[in-house]
Amino acid sequence: MKTPHIPPLHIFNTLTRQKEKFEPLHAPHVGLYVCGPTVYNDVHLGNCRTFTFFDIVVRYLRALGYQVRYVRNITDVGHLVGDADEGEDKIGKEAKLKNLEPMEVAQKYTNGFREVMRILGNLPPSIEPTATGHLIEQIEMVDKIIANGFAYESQGSVYFDVKKYNQSHQYGILSGRNVEEQLAGSRQLEGQSEKENSADFALWKKANPEHLMRWKSPWSEGFPGWHLECSAMSTKYLGKTFDIHGGGLDLQFPHHECEIAQSVAADGESPVRYWMHANMLTMNGTKMSKSLGNVIMPYEMFEGKSPLLSRAYSPMVFRYFLLQTHYRSTMDISDTALQAAQKGYYKLMNGMKNLQALTAQVENPDFAFAADLSEKEIQDIEKSVAAAYRNMNDDFNTAAAMASLFNLIKKVNMLHAGQLSLTVIGKEAFEKMHTTLTIFVENIFGLRAESPNFAPALSVLLETYQQAKAAQDYPKVDALRLKAKEMGITIKDMKTGVDWAYDEN
Ligand code: AMP
Ligand code: ZN
Repeated sequence: MKTPHIPPLHIFNTLTRQKEKFEPLHAPHVGLYVCGPTVYNDVHLGNCRTFTFFDIVVRYLRALGYQVRYVRNITDVGHLVGDADEGEDKIGKEAKLKNLEPMEVAQKYTNGFREVMRILGNLPPSIEPTATGHLIEQIEMVDKIIANGFAYESQGSVYFDVKKYNQSHQYGILSGRNVEEQLAGSRQLEGQSEKENSADFALWKKANPEHLMRWKSPWSEGFPGWHLECSAMSTKYLGKTFDIHGGGLDLQFPHHECEIAQSVAADGESPVRYWMHANMLTMNGTKMSKSLGNVIMPYEMFEGKSPLLSRAYSPMVFRYFLLQTHYRSTMDISDTALQAAQKGYYKLMNGMKNLQALTAQVENPDFAFAADLSEKEIQDIEKSVAAAYRNMNDDFNTAAAMASLFNLIKKVNMLHAGQLSLTVIGKEAFEKMHTTLTIFVENIFGLRAESPNFAPALSVLLETYQQAKAAQDYPKVDALRLKAKEMGITIKDMKTGVDWAYDEN
């Protein structure tokens, strides 16, 4: 068999605004950092889009043979209401509201987050550091930035000096913002603020008396800045420069811009080689966001309780839905889109079920692959296998890779229905198809078969159906078909007997 050429993995790097060949610093090791959730409430489906996408990145890199250290933090302090340097801590606010310890709030939503990730089929990170567990590292980093002349203390707080930094470096390098204009246009904030310049951002904040979360530091009893956490934790676990940093597009500025500035100011090195940003999940074109009130929560969707959707959709249907759009495009959630995803998901699962049946057939000791090979059929399979990898190597084009898999599924279904013979495909091509489909569906895309509460009743139903058919009791046959549909399956009359498939409609 001639194997088609597959170009290596290329990643769109936000920093350079182009697709670049992926070359890890220390292959086969890959360091990946993804900004985790701020655990003051439950994650919504928008957050799930970003985290699920990076799960696919980890899974794919591992499938390529890389040893990935996947660090995804938990932000349990320092993220202030309004995402800027003033206002209450999001977790502290929730704690006061509910009369709980801040750490109780953080623990509750950390547990909830992990559970939703598990249900959606996302692998746990290799390291899941919390910001509050890394105060020493953060204080050390602030010390370094001050010592290097890029930060100043003001009334117990410490601010990053953007103007000073921008004289020798480029603040705005990631987001493309022209900070010079911003700095020239902004007045010095004489006396009105602790900050020397409005573009400066907090590395350490002095806690006011009513602030709950506070730690001792050389500057004041206070708390770390949100951006600082990620810099300190990524440096600790992945080094001063590491391979990939990910997050949602809305974190590009200021969060990630500030991360770069902090690392450069502290260690003189740009921290990340490939910056990746997942685009937003939207509803009717508007970003899904708690503050806008257009959020769908995972359980609402699983249980059919969201006022924004007409019915329930399962975790795997949602995961499949996410794979249908390239991660750098916005993606709009709607009943129509989810219904289409449901159809696609069950079609894929039916194909995988047929593949299992074929595998059992091939593994039977009486089965022999006769040498009746069709070069065309084999080339078709080769091409689809190569296309699946080529599409993923093209900046993780999951939707196109899925289309390649469906070319293989089509062959599987034809083989299963007897429209194509296994002897024509041959052992080598069959095994290649089997391996590719299994690796992609299960390991890379992380899709598993969902048996919607019918498993125990299924065999009884099929048996009763067969008896009713033998007895030519057609009203009963119809009634059983209807019952099967309610269970989410279709009964199929095969030459060899009765079989079932997931209902794709
Ligand atoms: P947060 O807890 O607010 O820091 O958000 C956690 C992650 O979800 C971040 O990477 C955000 O960029 C991401 N995110 C927030 N809203 C959306 C959305 N509507 N679609 C996709 N990702 C989102
Ligand atoms: Zn972060």
